Amino acid sequence: MPEDEYSEALRVAEQRARDWLASVAQRPINPNADVDEIKDALGRILADEGQDAAAVVDHLATAIEPGLIAMASPRFYGFVIGGTYPAALAADWLVSAWDQNTGSRTPTPGAAAVEELAAAWLLDLLGLPAGSGVGFVTGATMANFSCLLAARGSVLRAAGWDVERHGLQGAPRVRFLAGDAVHSSMVVAGRMAGFGLPRTVGADPQGRIDVDGLVAALGQDDGPVIVALQAGDVHSGAFDDFAAAIAVAHAAGAWVHIDGAFGLWAGASPALRHLVAGYEAADSWATDAHKTLDVPYDSGVAIVADEAAMGAALAIHAAYLPEVGAVAEPYDHTPELSRRARGIPVWATLSTLGRHGVADLVDGMVAAAKGLADGFAETPGLEVLNDVVFTQVCVAADDDTLTGALADRLRADGVAWASPSRWHDRAIVRFSVSNRGTDATAVERTIGAVRSALAAVRDA
Ligand SMILES: *Cc1c(COP(=O)(O)O)cnc(C)c1O
Repeated sequence: MPEDEYSEALRVAEQRARDWLASVAQRPINPNADVDEIKDALGRILADEGQDAAAVVDHLATAIEPGLIAMASPRFYGFVIGGTYPAALAADWLVSAWDQNTGSRTPTPGAAAVEELAAAWLLDLLGLPAGSGVGFVTGATMANFSCLLAARGSVLRAAGWDVERHGLQGAPRVRFLAGDAVHSSMVVAGRMAGFGLPRTVGADPQGRIDVDGLVAALGQDDGPVIVALQAGDVHSGAFDDFAAAIAVAHAAGAWVHIDGAFGLWAGASPALRHLVAGYEAADSWATDAHKTLDVPYDSGVAIVADEAAMGAALAIHAAYLPEVGAVAEPYDHTPELSRRARGIPVWATLSTLGRHGVADLVDGMVAAAKGLADGFAETPGLEVLNDVVFTQVCVAADDDTLTGALADRLRADGVAWASPSRWHDRAIVRFSVSNRGTDATAVERTIGAVRSALAAVRDA
């Protein structure tokens, strides 16, 4: 390999990345080409002969750009997305350059060291039990799934069944309980873990699990049971009453898991920690670094207090793999054997922010959400439907048709982007603040964009 084989391709990639990043805050948010147009621009036929690397990268960037959405815009509020810190992005590039398979401590001690520090820092920041098993997975769905596998093994072991050896067929039935506002990710995790749909036990209007309903459901039967709680409802941002729900669930012998894809980060802020009071008593937690922490995709984190239960469910053993020593191997904590060093961009982000920076990040998102809600509430013809306790704001116009038209018009105008959704049987526009760049200026511009979109659809 010539020494500079990579130079030209990387130079082109860096330049194109800089151009994109410099444009992202100001460009219209929506893409302006569809999938077919992008395929046409790329060329649909795989050529017989390959091309020069730098030319391929340049062609890719030129062809794809009309099809890119400015998700990292400070005025992008769709789904729950998150931006990217410079240190996270740069570290992520290095992860690819180093190309370490981060399964094991022995061949790749560098990557394992960084990830072990990132894991310990996360537990400390979030106030979760030191020594918990931490797995760097693709996202919260895989984190929910990984935690459910640890939960499944643990509750079945207590019932005298070794699911890791014998599987689920013939096992005692595991009850899987959740609040009515359970996220679809938790539902799919339960499906993959072999439980089917969760049995829902009720919720209050903000989506918080009904603790009395939980008590009733727990009392209906005995045997292995897993309870899924939620930190951050996707519509309201609400947090379950962890202290109460965990106490009753543990009294019934349940394993308690918390899906905190974006909401778990409240635990990193002294001002917001009250929202998650008592959550450290749960048995497992799932979160995303690619949402609130603004690490690039893909970056989810699975946390299990009983590290041995995580290892029992997920560890891989083979004659050719390094023997498991006293310290857990990275592949004991994720469903993958081979993977990239996802914990490194997490480490870089925590390093660049420091403890106070993480708290400021989360506090800033909540302040922006409250600023949006105030602006919407002051706007005649708009109503904020949820209690804005965290990063989510659900707004509606006078009727569903107008709300739908508002969502479409807002996105078409390209200044701000929010998700049309339904909540409590009403059409809504849902704003989710998850970008570090969403400051007071972005909030002002967004309120202005919403007001002019509303005026336009009313006059239409
Ligand atoms: C986004 C989200 C998930 C799923 O996370 P992915 O990283 O997309 O897999 C799960 N739960 C909640 C509450 C979420 O907001």
